[in-house]
Amino acid sequence: MQINKIGTNVLSVFFPTKCYICGAEADLLCKSCKSQFIIPATRCAKCGRALPDAYSNYICQTCFTGKPVFNGGIAFFKYTDTIKSWIHNVKYGKNSYQIRIMDLFKSQIVEAISQFKPDILVPIPLTIEHSYLRGFNQSLLIAKKIANWINLPVATALKKTKFTESQTTVGADKRKRNVRNSFTASKKVKDRRVMLVDDVFTTGSTINEAAKTLKKYTDTVYFFAIAGT
Ligand SMILES: [Zn+2]
Ligand SMILES: [Zn+2]
Repeated sequence: MQINKIGTNVLSVFFPTKCYICGAEADLLCKSCKSQFIIPATRCAKCGRALPDAYSNYICQTCFTGKPVFNGGIAFFKYTDTIKSWIHNVKYGKNSYQIRIMDLFKSQIVEAISQFKPDILVPIPLTIEHSYLRGFNQSLLIAKKIANWINLPVATALKKTKFTESQTTVGADKRKRNVRNSFTASKKVKDRRVMLVDDVFTTGSTINEAAKTLKKYTDTVYFFAIAGT
């Protein structure tokens, strides 16, 4: 009895029984916040972002006009306000432990990734200025979790080579210009089936530029992003 009680107390210090998003009493996520973690049923056939249900097997406007060079990919959740705050917490606060929420969706995420049969995961590196501010990379955190689940190597095979403005504050055209030639790749990815890993997929210009860089060494570059706008 005594030991059980101590055990429970110790656990509650490390894993508080509160919803990470709103603070309500729950294990990781309350029902209402969980309902905002939406896994789309209909997706763009190229980038995997959510499309309205009538558009199965279509590609989205961005892929249609942008002709991305990546082979395919998936932006897993819809980018709801709840997802937005979660990613923000993981990224900027001292709350990176909130990445644990991914565990609740493990089987669906594993299934989504496995369809591409990747053999190596490559996280998108932080912009140079963010690496000074934060010191850790949320994409690496996501990649490590997936790597644990499906036993894949993680290679930090991309490096940022130039200072780019924060991608969240600039428009689509400027994003494209910003990221142009902004990466270098290492030969670690030679002839591998690469899966890039990132947090949010918006215009896709970062993923696309990364794919372009990696394609010097391999023909196959997919991506996984936690959410797509
Ligand atoms: Zn909640
Ligand atoms: Zn698309």
